[in-house]
Amino acid sequence: MKDTKETLICPACGEKMEKIKAPKSDFYIDICTKGCGGMYFDNRELEKFDEKSENVDFIFEALKGKTFKPATNNDVRICPACGSNMVKNFASTKREIEIDCCYTCGGKFLDYGELEKLRNQYETEADRSDDFMEDFMKIHGAELKKTEMEANKLASERSFFRKMFLSVYEKF
Ligand SMILES: [Zn+2]
Ligand SMILES: [Zn+2]
Repeated sequence: MKDTKETLICPACGEKMEKIKAPKSDFYIDICTKGCGGMYFDNRELEKFDEKSENVDFIFEALKGKTFKPATNNDVRICPACGSNMVKNFASTKREIEIDCCYTCGGKFLDYGELEKLRNQYETEADRSDDFMEDFMKIHGAELKKTEMEANKLASERSFFRKMFLSVYEKF
């Protein structure tokens, strides 16, 4: 999804958001600098900034030295880019931080302070995907194991029939 050009309205407090350009790139993060300090990321933008090693100084710079009013709207928030209802979702398999996600355009809204928390969860993207795999196996591991056993059983049956066929064939 392309960056939105128009000024976005903060889904948490209703203030106009400010577009802050990411250095050495052509995209902008919408930050609620005059209101609650929340920030909106277009589809797939957040993953560029959620690791400790990724530079987000420009975001913290925009927030530095300001005091923010608390976010008022804690119910369903409306996506500032496309107008759909946003859904609260855990930002990672650690299930610690809930962020607002838009399933229509892929946008994500983080309250003030959440980006920092998110970045401190994992050292690297590899750690994040390891954690995801571990979680995935906890949920689906038994099923996968069963499928694997069935596949093995099928393979051994097949080789059994093949051997039988060959032994019959050899008799002629
Ligand atoms: Zn706001
Ligand atoms: Zn949206």
